[in-house]
Amino acid sequence: MNIPQLPRFRLATLPTPLHDAPRLTAALGGPRILFKRDDLTGLALGGNKARKLEFLLADALAQQADILVTGGGPQSNHVRMTAAAARIAGMDAVGVIYPSGKGETQGNLLLDHLLGLEIIRLPPTPHAQVEAFMLDTCERLRQAGRRPYYIPLGGSVPLADTGYVLCALELQQQCLEIGVSPSHIILPTGSCGTHAGLLAGVKWLQAPYRVLGMTVSRAREEVQSRLERLTQETADLLGLRIDLTADDIIIHDAYRGPGYAISTPEGEAAIRLVATTEGIFLDPVYTGKAMAGLIDLIRRGALTREHTVVFLHTGGVPGLFAYDKELGH
Ligand SMILES: *Cc1c(COP(=O)(O)O)cnc(C)c1O
Repeated sequence: MNIPQLPRFRLATLPTPLHDAPRLTAALGGPRILFKRDDLTGLALGGNKARKLEFLLADALAQQADILVTGGGPQSNHVRMTAAAARIAGMDAVGVIYPSGKGETQGNLLLDHLLGLEIIRLPPTPHAQVEAFMLDTCERLRQAGRRPYYIPLGGSVPLADTGYVLCALELQQQCLEIGVSPSHIILPTGSCGTHAGLLAGVKWLQAPYRVLGMTVSRAREEVQSRLERLTQETADLLGLRIDLTADDIIIHDAYRGPGYAISTPEGEAAIRLVATTEGIFLDPVYTGKAMAGLIDLIRRGALTREHTVVFLHTGGVPGLFAYDKELGH
């Protein structure tokens, strides 16, 4: 199988912009920083899940599904964008929501309500059991005569990650057009699919830059094996021959703070800095923490004026509104 043959259901406005952040670059006194604006993919206020959902929705339609089943925390961008994608494709969606971070009807959860998402709220539950519950939900729907399509947490399966293999290609072309050759791509890493797709693409293109993920939830060891597996599986699905080595798997876990969806002072400072220098909003759960990591690497001298960094802005901006207590002063 190769990418042009894969069915794709268009949801994202592409290519997303790639542009310089000169005032942020000057404020940090380190590498040239460019933003790849996947916060502007255009699907229901944007974000990285649009690229993944294009392949998942095409698969769901091919299977004649009529309802999508997925899950996440109350501020899940993935759930919000899945609910919107379902509507665009004329389907319904169920969101299995477990307690994690902010639970009030604000930000993403507010948008879920507007999209008419069927919300099932669970008590505190380990991830593996959430997924089991989601599968049970599919079974219950099937017995009721529906045709459910299951999307795991974060939508990180090789088919979906194909969206980020294509993003690597898109980025490569844009870099050529504007004459930049990045040394690093930095992004937040959650369920790993975005990082895996990008890395598979970068290896396939034999691009000279390193992909560096700032994990926002899991510890580094756990992410490394998951990332390695997903990267290889994505390449295999597409028949891309890549030579993945341990060197290619770069994960930092020092910036996630006390845990997923818990805002950190460094992340909040990064959000303020990017807003005041560039007029761009980051979010407290993903991109703020990834930017805090980039800032720290500059302070430590690991990234210098010799480098050129592309920061992948994966979105998450609706989540900002649930963090008014932390950010609104
Ligand atoms: C889901 C998400 C990520 C992480 O992507 P994964 O593919 O799950 O690693 C990063 N940023 C935002 C804003 C997201 O919603």
